[in-house]
Amino acid sequence: MSDKRKRYLLDEEEIPRFWYNIQADMPNKPQPPLNPRTKAPLSPEDLYPIFSKECSNQELNQTDAWIEIPEEVREKYKYYRSTPLVRAYGLEKALGTPAHIYFKNESVSPMGSHKLNSAIPQAFYCKQEGVTNITTETGAGQWGASLSYAASMYGLEAAVYQVKVSYEQKPYRRSMMQTFGATVTASPSMSTRAGKDIITRNPNYQGSLGTAISEAVELATTTPNCKYCLGSVLNHVALHQTVIGLEAEKQMEMAGEYPDVVIACFGGGSNFGGISFPFMRHKIAGEPGKEHTRFVAAEPSSCPKLTRGVFRYDYGDEAGYTPLLPMFTLGHNFSPANIHAGGLRYHGAGVIVSQLLKDGLMEAVDIPQLESFDAGMLFARAEGIIPAPESAHAIAATIREALKAKETGEEKVILFNLSGHGLVDMSAYDKYLSGDLQNYSISDEELAGNIAETDPLQP
Ligand SMILES: *Cc1c(COP(=O)(O)O)cnc(C)c1O
Repeated sequence: MSDKRKRYLLDEEEIPRFWYNIQADMPNKPQPPLNPRTKAPLSPEDLYPIFSKECSNQELNQTDAWIEIPEEVREKYKYYRSTPLVRAYGLEKALGTPAHIYFKNESVSPMGSHKLNSAIPQAFYCKQEGVTNITTETGAGQWGASLSYAASMYGLEAAVYQVKVSYEQKPYRRSMMQTFGATVTASPSMSTRAGKDIITRNPNYQGSLGTAISEAVELATTTPNCKYCLGSVLNHVALHQTVIGLEAEKQMEMAGEYPDVVIACFGGGSNFGGISFPFMRHKIAGEPGKEHTRFVAAEPSSCPKLTRGVFRYDYGDEAGYTPLLPMFTLGHNFSPANIHAGGLRYHGAGVIVSQLLKDGLMEAVDIPQLESFDAGMLFARAEGIIPAPESAHAIAATIREALKAKETGEEKVILFNLSGHGLVDMSAYDKYLSGDLQNYSISDEELAGNIAETDPLQP
């Protein structure tokens, strides 16, 4: 086995020049976002007060399948891309599976996750449009760190609202953001109306991504020359992340294989879309030998919007400032348990992914917290990389597939995205090692109650 190739990298010239916009090829296009007050469909211009113009245009672009990556952004990508495609021989051996397991290692980015792939273009477009300040929310701090770094690249001021539970659980990510000059505030905070409102209702609230988004959007819309940036969920974020799958496609070709299953963990869908959409275009086109591929999103059991949520219009944030989005949701005020995969604690799913799930082009599984850490531990010992608690969900789903292949003796090819490393999440591993981690379950009644209570289209 020693002569077998383990890692595949691309030359600089082979780094993609275009992102892939799956909206252009979808059999059923996503329904439009709606104005939260008038309920009228939104045009890109309606999004300009919140996002950069370019990102607003990309968000609603349903016609151009290929969108050029600005040369300035490509130059920045070159500092860490291509990321390696790795054959996980160690994991295959540990599982005794005939499956061929590959992973795309996004943890090698300077910030340790895939998030930088979208932070760079978002900051770049703001700079190009004369914006001076950007603001955002962050859960685990991966996105906040990436955006803070991207802001510093372009001389922008960054203000980050970090979900309170993560602010306390993950102090080093806060230090990372501050290293790049960002201002970091624990959310909910008293600095916004949305924050004050929820603290008044619930003084011990530990925060959620939904609330932090409300605070950041409020700051962006009340501060001159300030735009809001989002690290997940939205179409333009998944678009930027397709650089992952486009590279992986070329690298799988170098390995002489094509994936039967593509797997990623799921928070709002950006790393899932990023690795999946370039492969899914061949399935949509019905290309022989490529139409059978399955796409599996792995979400936490404690925040199960894809497997147990409903498809309907809902707000992207807790206070109801954002456009109404047609998506799988648990209700915009859903407050997920304090699991350690902070990046997966979001009530809704991206609009594109929601439509694809509805249309049966992809599937979803839910992973209990302990199974995710079991998988993370096994992977760390087999491959020498400690995965982010989020990414461990993808690994758990991969292990399930590899064990199925073992039962049937199938040489199935599995590709998963390692969205990040867990080196700044060791307090979570500490808890696991000392037996302090638990699973969380929610009853159908609780879920249904929350969903019914928060339907924004009900009178
Ligand atoms: C943010 C994050 C996620 C979840 O976000 P998606 O948009 O669903 O990809 C997953 N993994 C890591 C490491 C993250 O930082």
